[in-house]
Amino acid sequence: MGISRRRLLGASVLTGIGGAGVVAGQGNATGVTRFSVSRRRLMLTHTWTIARNSSDYKDNVFVRIERDGIVGWGEAAPNVRYGQSAEGTIEMLEKARPFVQAGDWLQYVDLRARWERELAGDSCAHAALDMAILDWVGGKLRTPLYRMLGLDPAKTPVTTFSIGIDTPEVIRQKVEEAKDFPVLKIKVGRDNDAEILAAVRDATDKPLRVDANEGWRDKQQALDKIQWLAAQGVELIEQPLPSSMIEETAWLKERIDIPIVADEAVKTVGDIPRLAGAYDGINIKLMKSGGLQEAIRMIHVARAFDMKIMLGCMIESSVGISAAAQISPLVDWADLDGNLLISNDPFSGVGVRQGRLILNDRPGLGVSERPQTSL
Ligand SMILES: [Mg+2]
Repeated sequence: MGISRRRLLGASVLTGIGGAGVVAGQGNATGVTRFSVSRRRLMLTHTWTIARNSSDYKDNVFVRIERDGIVGWGEAAPNVRYGQSAEGTIEMLEKARPFVQAGDWLQYVDLRARWERELAGDSCAHAALDMAILDWVGGKLRTPLYRMLGLDPAKTPVTTFSIGIDTPEVIRQKVEEAKDFPVLKIKVGRDNDAEILAAVRDATDKPLRVDANEGWRDKQQALDKIQWLAAQGVELIEQPLPSSMIEETAWLKERIDIPIVADEAVKTVGDIPRLAGAYDGINIKLMKSGGLQEAIRMIHVARAFDMKIMLGCMIESSVGISAAAQISPLVDWADLDGNLLISNDPFSGVGVRQGRLILNDRPGLGVSERPQTSL
């Protein structure tokens, strides 16, 4: 059996960096605390193209913490759109190491306040720390995170499967690969939108959600595009205009019947009030919010403004996706397919059946590291 070049490339960079730091446990004779950071290359099954860029792989950063024999995992997916890089994220996590190692992980609210204060700016590093700590707390309490939060695992939504920008031939192939998913998310925002929609509609009549990733620059152009898309069975539009164009987006909202969802325009809870009149909903991503604690706050504040909620992701392994899935019973729409777009997921966790997210009953995030593929 041949080994694909992608897989080989992916495996060759599975080298951990940053060592395991060991300090005395928190007054527990058996307690040994470890904190390690590693960078791993996630290989995309298809070249991933959206309005602003294109890539074949994604370098994400993983945090592994351990105390009392219990392990917690977290993941950071640095994104150039937000000025992040794997190097910068690793640096940030190394700064967090001393106070995380010394902290009481059961008091994760105070610990979060500390990294928000001392490591300002790198939301994906915050997300990795927040996931790792909550995964550990779930392990310590022997409870899945969704149970700690009082959520019903039967209420997880269907996730869309995303189709990146591509040639009509590849798009038809991707639609076929997504046959188990009842709703698709289509990326547009370049100059071939009509060609992409035609290729998708040629292959399926499923409901579609469309993401322009700030690709349209003019409100009249966006209005024409959205009216045309709605006629093609598109049920919502994500970030049609650049995040700074709030007034223009409000103008659009008055003229179209399908919901407009903010993505690049919203990162944390503080962004929500000024978006409430311009958008019908927000796309929350752990990598933008800085983790689950902030994502939960955002859900409640957005509800107070009568906004709909999508839970989205970057290209992430099953660590990040399983973390987001824990709070998915609280949202209207899920776009949690990052782990399904890669060919070498180092972890297993949340499952998916005919598009619906399936939470398992393991503690914390419910993730485990897969044995590394031998070459
Ligand atoms: Mg988006």
